[in-house]
Amino acid sequence: MLADKVAVVTGGSRGIGREIAKELAKHGAKVVVNYNSSATAAEEVVAEIKEAGGDALAVQANVAEFDAAQNLIKTAVDTFGKIDIIVNNAGTTRDTLLLTMKEQQWDDVIDINLKSVFNVCKAAARPMVRKKQGGRIINITSVVGITGQAGQSNYAASKAGIIGFTKSLAKELGQRQITVNAIAPGFFPTALTNDLPDDVKDHYMDLIPLKRWGDLPEVGYLVCFLASEKASYITGQVINVDGGIAM
Ligand code: NAP
Repeated sequence: MLADKVAVVTGGSRGIGREIAKELAKHGAKVVVNYNSSATAAEEVVAEIKEAGGDALAVQANVAEFDAAQNLIKTAVDTFGKIDIIVNNAGTTRDTLLLTMKEQQWDDVIDINLKSVFNVCKAAARPMVRKKQGGRIINITSVVGITGQAGQSNYAASKAGIIGFTKSLAKELGQRQITVNAIAPGFFPTALTNDLPDDVKDHYMDLIPLKRWGDLPEVGYLVCFLASEKASYITGQVINVDGGIAM
């Protein structure tokens, strides 16, 4: 489905991004697995992809930094010759109520979750446009960016910002046949959600119509569909993968 395509997955070393990278590779894409600090985990993803007959490369870059994102995209183009698919997945949390939130907690989350999306798209858009072969940009937001969440004003703002950015870029790049969509996951068992207290987990479980958390590959399945030719007329959309919690 994605043979001859080149994909960059930010935060591909762990959690949801790791599964996205593996799923894209399973469908034939060459994958640049970006990470910030988890070098071993990123190399494991690359090894798994290669063992299965695919092609991948781990690239360190703190995508919150403009220059690092430029280097990430340059490395991808230098290695594989082009970029067809960008998945902006890198993300973090610094949860606390506004009354106790430090400026640094606000800045970290906005920079890692939102500025990173600008940084990577800014670096990748020109090479994608120049290639004149269209493309796919898929941004991982969150249901929290739609509904809001007490204790997550920084995170919710960053994720809501991604939605506005996605729709604007979809309008800018549409004539180039580059689609730009966002995926809003609900609750998935990763390092981001591990530390939630049990009563909070139980509360969310009550609210999820499907009565279970997501399985990690379930975001990757949608990424692969949006990255494929079959999704060529879908742009500017926010699609929830959330068991129905945010409907
Ligand atoms: P995770 O398990 O904590 O993984 C986060 C990934 O992002 C890691 O690969 C990490 O790499 C990378 N990363 C963090 N900061 C980075 C930076 N500055 N530069 C490059 N990479 C960076 O989190 P996750 O749950 O899989 O989350 C993935 C995405 O899904 C995030 O955008 C998150 O907001 C979103 N999401 C998750 C859930 C959920 O329930 N888990 C729900 C809704 C949305 P290193 O280890 O190398 O730093």
